[in-house]
Amino acid sequence: MNQISTFKKLLLHVCCGPCAMFPLRELLKDGSDVTLFFYNPNIHPRIEWKRRFDNAQRVAEHYQVPMIVNEWSDSTKWRMREGDGDKRCLFCYETRLTRLVQEAMESGFDAVSSTLLVSPYQKREMILDVGSKVANDTGIVFVPFDWRGGFYEGQKMAREIGLYRQKYCGCIVSLETSSFYEKVAREHEQLALSECLNCGVRFDS
Ligand code: SF4
Repeated sequence: MNQISTFKKLLLHVCCGPCAMFPLRELLKDGSDVTLFFYNPNIHPRIEWKRRFDNAQRVAEHYQVPMIVNEWSDSTKWRMREGDGDKRCLFCYETRLTRLVQEAMESGFDAVSSTLLVSPYQKREMILDVGSKVANDTGIVFVPFDWRGGFYEGQKMAREIGLYRQKYCGCIVSLETSSFYEKVAREHEQLALSECLNCGVRFDS
């Protein structure tokens, strides 16, 4: 299906750098006018948000596409939904895709989609449902791309340009239940320490 002919300007929600690699290559090959939108208030902690944001920015520079950014915000809402199972993910997709459609309306885009649709680990049907619901009656088209066939190729492309590839979905619950929790927690400590050492604050005064 040629979904490209249905829109002129696409605002593409980007969850992280590696997941953007394959979709962007395909979209640009097709001559699409793409802008990235980094809005992921689910990501915990802030240092991890910064790490994924830096990666997304590197991908934007790599492909020379613009990126709109919403700053990090409080991710504790995801902690409050700890026992909600799939409903927490529903809330997560709704939060991000609702803001995506709002931004598209405010900034003159006519279509939206998300790099979440490249991942075989995300809840695709839920994302498609939420996407079409939040775009309904707005004049914005939610494009249901299926990039899953390029997931591993995208990860390889990400490795080739040295991108960080995360080991948990993003929210605090997914971090604490990850089998890599201890490794990731150590990485976060080290990142926080180096950020602290680079901030110029003297601890001996
Ligand atoms: S597991 Fe992933 S999709 Fe589900 S709430 Fe957490 S960050 Fe969002």
